[in-house]
Amino acid sequence: MAVLSRCSRAVTAATTPNAAAAKFSYLIRALSPFSSSSSTFDADNGLNSRIKPAVLGTLKREPKDRNVQWVFLGCPGVGKGTYASRLSDLLGIPHIATGDLVRDELASSGPLSSQLKEIVNQGKLVSDEIIIDLLSKRLEAGEAKGESGFILDGFPRTVRQAEILEGVTDIDLVINLKLREEALLAKCLGRRICSECGGNYNVACIDIKAENGKPGMYMAPLPPPPQCASKLITRADDTEEVVKQRLRIYQAMTLPVEDFYRSRGKLLEFDLPGGVRESWPKLLHALNLEDEEDKQSAAA
Ligand code: AMP
Repeated sequence: MAVLSRCSRAVTAATTPNAAAAKFSYLIRALSPFSSSSSTFDADNGLNSRIKPAVLGTLKREPKDRNVQWVFLGCPGVGKGTYASRLSDLLGIPHIATGDLVRDELASSGPLSSQLKEIVNQGKLVSDEIIIDLLSKRLEAGEAKGESGFILDGFPRTVRQAEILEGVTDIDLVINLKLREEALLAKCLGRRICSECGGNYNVACIDIKAENGKPGMYMAPLPPPPQCASKLITRADDTEEVVKQRLRIYQAMTLPVEDFYRSRGKLLEFDLPGGVRESWPKLLHALNLEDEEDKQSAAA
């Protein structure tokens, strides 16, 4: 943890992409104070011995004061939240999940609440305007607390959102998590969330047998710690029908976002080999990161 201060970053501000800008001004305001002429992620400034970001040669630019700005892409149920929050702890950078922002808004008695409930519970996407507004407010609040850098999870989900983001800041890396389709539905249906701490767990035990030359895959459940066990809830949109709809929407609306970042050389494809225990060290390796705490507990 607490490694954030040892990374460095810069953000490029840009002009508003289109006339709908008024709604997006929060995002621009939230990000513009970090503006810098360069967009850099420094791997080797000696500030951070635990983390060797050197993510992709193409993304490595001159060192300037900035923290990482990463995006997690991937189908519903793939585990974006799990890995983004682990990386957030490791790097000391906020994990911002737009789905969480939507659910917080939904749970409030704010003016958007009932409108959002209907959209989310049908597995549809919230409008770009609303989502940008929620994200901008979150970034603005983080900025006021001195936060810097982010790991975005669930945003951008449309090419338009990606364009807007690109217009206001520089994304260093997009991690595209992939999991076999057979596992995605089961993972969503097995998802449990602690209503108190927000921790994400999974009761599904996925055991796909090898077939027709395709290897098998085993993913152990991710059980909650004892203090969360009695407080678990299921998301209202994690029903079979809604998950299938969300998967369809991902194919139609978000798959093009993969291409958007692929064409910019920012996409890191990562096929999850199994559950967290197996995948986490491999993901760290792919990112050229190390987790000392994990190493120590494995050695103990
Ligand atoms: P998630 O937790 O990422 O699965 O998001 C839950 C729901 O929030 C989605 O099914 C959408 O209705 C809404 N949502 C989250 N992020 C976005 C986004 N970037 N654009 C549009 N809708 C979103």
